[in-house]
Amino acid sequence: MVTVNLRSFRQMVLKNRRRMRSFLTRLEKNVPKGMKKLQEEADKGAWGRTDCLDCANCCKTMSPTYTVEDIRRISAHLNMTPAAFREKWLYKDRTGDWMNVKQPCQFLDLKTNKCDIYAVRPRDCAGFPHHNKKMGPDYMHMYHQNIEYCPATYRLVENIMEKAADGGL
Ligand code: SF4
Ligand code: SF4
Repeated sequence: MVTVNLRSFRQMVLKNRRRMRSFLTRLEKNVPKGMKKLQEEADKGAWGRTDCLDCANCCKTMSPTYTVEDIRRISAHLNMTPAAFREKWLYKDRTGDWMNVKQPCQFLDLKTNKCDIYAVRPRDCAGFPHHNKKMGPDYMHMYHQNIEYCPATYRLVENIMEKAADGGL
């Protein structure tokens, strides 16, 4: 497993994101045969090179979306009412979703990069970066966004680009 260095990750993003997003746009317009399989292989390769406990960049720089069920479960775990939990930690964004007020997330232990409420964390956190949620071209808009925040997504896209450069697409 390769250690995640967030400083060099940010530098790589600044250098390469434009090129990567142009590649993704071209891929969306001309989806190769076997795209789903390619994404699955690229995903596997990405996780072989990424350890979330070295990173936690999603918890540091993004907010999960909390469902009503997430709020109910987490507030019960913390012996709070859902209303008190919302009042203390969340706000409603323009689209009506409940999001964290604070960044990094209030539940992130910054010394260990572990989540203090791991067992009851929001469903959005449990699934992030959602590589397997919906493999296929319809999901590429998420890659456009998350290459900037998530080293695993960045590496997934990098793996697909390497395959394309080798003539494998
Ligand atoms: S709830 Fe846990 S997993 Fe989710 S953003 Fe906060 S620290 Fe990260
Ligand atoms: S999901 Fe991505 S951003 Fe979050 S900790 Fe893992 S590699 Fe880092």
